[in-house]
Amino acid sequence: MTATGLSTSEKYRQFLILSSVQSVEPITVERARDALVWSTDGTEYVDCFAGIAVVNAGHCEPRVLEAARRQMERLVHIGSLLYEVPVVADLAEKLAWITPGRLEKTFFCNSGAEAVEGALRLAKASTGRSEFIALELGFHGRTNATLSVTGNRKRKQHGGPYLPGVAFAPPPHPYRCRLCNGKCSLACADAVSDVIDYHTSGDVAAFIAEPVMGEGGIIVPPEGYFERVKKILDDRGILFIADEVQSGFGRTGTMFAIERSGVAPDIMTMAKGIGDGFPLAGFTARPDVADSFRPGEHLSTFGGNPVCCAAGLASIEVLEADGLVARSAGLGSWLRPQLERLAERHVAVGDVRGAGLMQGLELVRDRVTREPAPELAARIKASCRQRGVLIGVGGYFGNVLRIQPPLTITQEQLGFVAEVLDGALSEAMAS
Ligand code: PLP
Repeated sequence: MTATGLSTSEKYRQFLILSSVQSVEPITVERARDALVWSTDGTEYVDCFAGIAVVNAGHCEPRVLEAARRQMERLVHIGSLLYEVPVVADLAEKLAWITPGRLEKTFFCNSGAEAVEGALRLAKASTGRSEFIALELGFHGRTNATLSVTGNRKRKQHGGPYLPGVAFAPPPHPYRCRLCNGKCSLACADAVSDVIDYHTSGDVAAFIAEPVMGEGGIIVPPEGYFERVKKILDDRGILFIADEVQSGFGRTGTMFAIERSGVAPDIMTMAKGIGDGFPLAGFTARPDVADSFRPGEHLSTFGGNPVCCAAGLASIEVLEADGLVARSAGLGSWLRPQLERLAERHVAVGDVRGAGLMQGLELVRDRVTREPAPELAARIKASCRQRGVLIGVGGYFGNVLRIQPPLTITQEQLGFVAEVLDGALSEAMAS
């Protein structure tokens, strides 16, 4: 078959397997830098989605590119678990320093789903048990095991049957809590104990949760949630896997979102922000847990790719050198009142929540019934794009606007984003 002369957009529709062509934004992207993206027709956009919360250090960060380029000229691939490669060891050492508690040993792989798969397997190997507790509304990837611990029917369609031995606890979701009547008593944390007792055989290896839930709709668990859950887990010898694939690397204003709770996980998964766009992922565990894999038991051909590890190490160094984690916290605190003002001006904004530069606006048809407004969210996303701002939409109902820009975004650009959201909400409400 020869080249067809079709446009990029036509080729996308003809030659790519897309689960939902509708969800591809009508923009052909040419290049990006920091928090700006340019399409092939020269239009400039402020990027508030960062390639699904990935390019935390900014698009095409020169120091990250230079580190990758230098590594590429020396060694692209050898099999980093077959041979020792300096940059792989350096990145693993760096992760041991920046991850909380006693997390120390890392297994490198290529995607968030692969990291979660490996973490689940390690938890089984470490405990000799086989069941898991996950959260309703949680999201952990699109492979069979990761969908098995994903608590969202809409993400799981046509993929079943899923793995047995997974029980779901209610989500720690203050805005849509089904357990407490207005006043939070952390019943969602206590429910983890009931789920273990009534929905499993007691043979539970691990509890897996996102410290801030991303795909579920930027859900920040109530204060004290993870402390209480960890106590329940520790009393029963169950491991805690913190899935930091989306919330890690400064996204929520701390290096890892779980630090906000002071709880140290036993295993942590990471991807997205670790490589500033290079496909890199991994899971880090306490040494006693990590050492339960026997030699050769777990492997990934491309895992620990030297070029990606060089980019990952450089990206973490950029986060540190440029103070981007504190910047995420500061800009998040600055943005929050702007978003709350939108909630005062527009009745459709039912809730504003988030941490650092991981913020969400939940749109509703009615503030009293909290009936979700997914069509409105889709219209506002399109309107923002037409006005020069890229945002995401998520949540179980598809009604949460997601603001997750590169952490290098400027306050001025965020001010523009708030103005654009205001204009888009006004326009949508008027129609
Ligand atoms: N875990 C979380 C918390 C995620 O947000 C995602 C992706 O959005 C994944 C796992 C899966 O990551 P990937 O798409 O890299 O497989």
